[in-house]
Amino acid sequence: MTTLKSCHCSHELSQVLLAGMQEIVGQSGVMAALNTVSLMGSKDEALTCFEPGGGNLTFEGIVSLFKAMEQLYGIRGGHGVVLRSGKAAFKYLLRRFGVQMRLSELEYRLLPAPQRLKAGLVALGEILSFHCNTPVQVAENESAWIWRMDQCPWCLGRQSEESGVCYFITGLLQEYFSWVSGGRYYEVREAECQAASGLACVFQISKQPLD
Ligand SMILES: [Zn+2]
Repeated sequence: MTTLKSCHCSHELSQVLLAGMQEIVGQSGVMAALNTVSLMGSKDEALTCFEPGGGNLTFEGIVSLFKAMEQLYGIRGGHGVVLRSGKAAFKYLLRRFGVQMRLSELEYRLLPAPQRLKAGLVALGEILSFHCNTPVQVAENESAWIWRMDQCPWCLGRQSEESGVCYFITGLLQEYFSWVSGGRYYEVREAECQAASGLACVFQISKQPLD
């Protein structure tokens, strides 16, 4: 746990996360969550994040924010809020990093679907990897794409009875696949989670869309 303080996401990525959250619960909801975080005794990094040039969310701050949502909206309600925040955050991520990810280039858009889905996922992994300073590995097998984080910003230090708690990234990945496939629904499942004694947080995305 000694590494907690040094792990943080960039200011840009922190803002993407908060913008997604704000879209779901409004500014007052985000402020209520930040106040709850403050009351829980976890740091003001989260609070300064709205200020120009200010704060980066630490992993600890992110996890506290998600916990605050559970306190404010109940466990299941909080999970729903975080999942939908992840989905909503995708478009802010696209706005901020889309050019860098080369997702609007013709060359990318002309790729055959399977390659396009995978290439965008790899690009998304690189962005999160860089901006959260933690490795993301993307792999695939015959039936699924696999997204793996060995040091997950979304659940660091958490322990849960559930099989997985990383709803934000689940939502973000769901929305990415919907966007890249023109609105189809790909099931994203957290197969392994560090909060549930997993070695890493591992997400499996079925290559077969549900619709
Ligand atoms: Zn996790």
